[in-house]
Order: sequence, then structure tokens, then C-alpha cells
Amino acid sequence: MSAAAPKIRLFVDGALSPGASVAATDAQAHYLLHVMRRAPSDPVALFNGRDGEWRAVVQTPSKRHVVFEVQDQLRAQSGTPDLWLAFAPVKRIDVVVEKATELGVSALLPVMTRHTDVSRINFDRLRATTIEAAEQCERLSVPVIQPAQNFDPFLAQWPQARRLFYLDETGGGAPIATALQDEVTNSCGFLVGPEGGFAQSELDALALLPSARGISLGPRILRAETAALAALACWQALSGDWRAGLGGLANQSLIP
Ligand code: SAM
Repeated sequence: MSAAAPKIRLFVDGALSPGASVAATDAQAHYLLHVMRRAPSDPVALFNGRDGEWRAVVQTPSKRHVVFEVQDQLRAQSGTPDLWLAFAPVKRIDVVVEKATELGVSALLPVMTRHTDVSRINFDRLRATTIEAAEQCERLSVPVIQPAQNFDPFLAQWPQARRLFYLDETGGGAPIATALQDEVTNSCGFLVGPEGGFAQSELDALALLPSARGISLGPRILRAETAALAALACWQALSGDWRAGLGGLANQSLIP
């Protein structure tokens, strides 16, 4: 991000263009006025996942309300890798969602497998987690969180053209570096199982899916959240935007 860009970055829903006026949410207004003690005309950076990143200034039409007056574009919208993470919800689901956002996933797909022992998912909290992580890591988009699916319909609806790398802790998969170097793919997804692992019937069904390939992350049994993030990191290093050298942001088309 250019050195002149404001420190505070916020995700907004509204369209971003010169002179646009975008209302802050109540939570954003509280954060700006009472936590960060921002004053009228202080700058912030806004992004909405469509229009790139824009400088805006804080306006306070009333004591409790904040409106952003959009000024100039700081960064053009750039794509994120077409990388999905499907995961059986685990106790530390927030860690999975936050770190996967930092690692550049474009979609998060909760999958209820046989041994999944988390039954309720707080989607509002997960959405807030993805937004905060996107603001912090300076990406220009927020991953989509799909509704939870049971394993069978998830597999039946998986797009045939999209490679599905499933993390098989039983040793049935190929070493991840081998599998990823075999096919530098731009559109793929990873599937990680629950604390109790995949059921054998699930592994059998995955083995029969033409677009699926089992992956091994070595001899140790990793926590699901560790396995998910390790796989995403390997993919980013071998196939993704980590190959951009100095960090993706340094190469993004910055508006002078
Ligand atoms: N059922 C396993 C056991 O108790 O031995 C533990 C499952 S592990 C905690 C959760 C998930 O992380 C697994 O289903 C798998 O998707 C992934 N995982 C963990 N270690 C892995 C490894 N070495 N290779 C591939 N996937 C792994």
C-alpha cells in the first residue's frame, strides 16, 4: 500500500467513487470516534471488494453518526486467487476462518462430516472475523462464507472442473509438494476433516471422485486448523500469489 495511505482500513458495502458518501456502521462509528478518537476530516482507507481501495475522510453529521466522504483511489481492485477451503467445523473455527482469510481464500465452505462434533455455527461472528482479517491483512476482498452442507451433498455438488485436494491423515494421500507441483492450478479447493478425522466411507467416496486427490502433510497428525493453514500456505507458495516475490501488495497496481 502506498506510504500515503491512511492507517485505518475499513470494509464498506457502498459503491466507492470520487465524492461518494458512504455511511459507517454503528460499530465503525463507535470504533472511529471512541476507540481511535478520530476527528472530522481525518482520513481512512475504504474497500468494498469491487472498486479497489479509496481514501475517504470522516464526517460526523451528528454525535453518533459517521459518514465517509470518498476522495481518491489508492489501489485498483485486484483479483484474489480462486482458492476455496472446505472444512469440518472445529472448536477453533474462528482461527481457521481468520487465518484462511489472511492466506487469501476466496470462499469458505463448512462441511458437516460423520465425526464433526460442532453442531452450531455462528455465521455472523464468522463474517465479522473475515472482515476484520481482510482489513488487517490489506486484501481488497472478503471471502464468501457458504451455508453449511452435509458431506454427501457437498461432494455431489463439487464443481467437476475444480480440483479438490482432501487432507488425508491416514497416509493415503500424495505428499503435498508432489501433488501441487504435478498440477499448477489456479482454481482449486482443499477439504480438511474434523478433530475425529474422516470416516472411512468418506475417504472411499473421495477416492472415487475424479476431481479429488488425497494429500498428505507428513507423518504427524496435525490439528484440523493447523492442517488447513499448512495446506493453504503450501499452495500459495507453489501455485498462488506468494510467487509474486516481495509480497503481493508490493506488486499490485498502485494508483500514484
Ligand atoms: N482422526 C485423526 C486421529 O485421531 O488420528 C485426527 C484427525 S486430524 C486432528 C483433523 C484433520 O486434519 C484430518 O481429518 C485431516 O484432514 C487433517 N490432517 C491432520 N494431519 C494430517 C496429515 N498428516 N496429513 C494430511 N491431513 C492431515
